[in-house]
Amino acid sequence: TTTNVVHINSLLEDIAGFARQKAKYRGVEIRLALDPKAGEIEISPAEIQQIILNLVNNAIDAIEKDNGLVQLRSIREDGFVRIDVEDNGQGIPENILPSIFEPFFTTKAAGKGTGLGLSICRDLLSKMGGSISVKSTPGQGCIFHVRLPASAPK
Ligand code: ADP
Ligand code: MG
Repeated sequence: TTTNVVHINSLLEDIAGFARQKAKYRGVEIRLALDPKAGEIEISPAEIQQIILNLVNNAIDAIEKDNGLVQLRSIREDGFVRIDVEDNGQGIPENILPSIFEPFFTTKAAGKGTGLGLSICRDLLSKMGGSISVKSTPGQGCIFHVRLPASAPK
């Protein structure tokens, strides 16, 4: 895997750009809230893009109402950069929450989802020394937290 210096906020701006066409078609707004201190990390640009775009696509898919909103946030923490992907969609029922990171688990119609997205996200992140977690409020939406080790300050 080729790594490179990735500016977290530029990455999130690029992803918002890619996702906006699908979002617009579904009547979903994509909003960025970027921490100016988010900084940069040494990582595979293709892999981190795949991870976050996956989460954004899932977020858009979860919204079936007007005033859909997906928020992409960067937050600098101690030694980590956190990226949040939050939506105001249907949320995840408690009984399936333990299964969503398993390969091939999907609630989408045949042909619409492979069920591999979150399992790939989790595997790639653990390879990067990072992690992913989720909080869901059924009926109100959910938020995925991605944590990546920040590179030493230059
Ligand atoms: P796929 O998108 O192909 O179904 P994923 O691994 O990306 O596979 O997601 C697995 C399942 O987790 C989805 O089918 C859906 O049930 C649930 N899920 C993931 N993200 C969200 C979200 N933002 N809101 C509601 N449910 C979600
Ligand atoms: Mg998916």
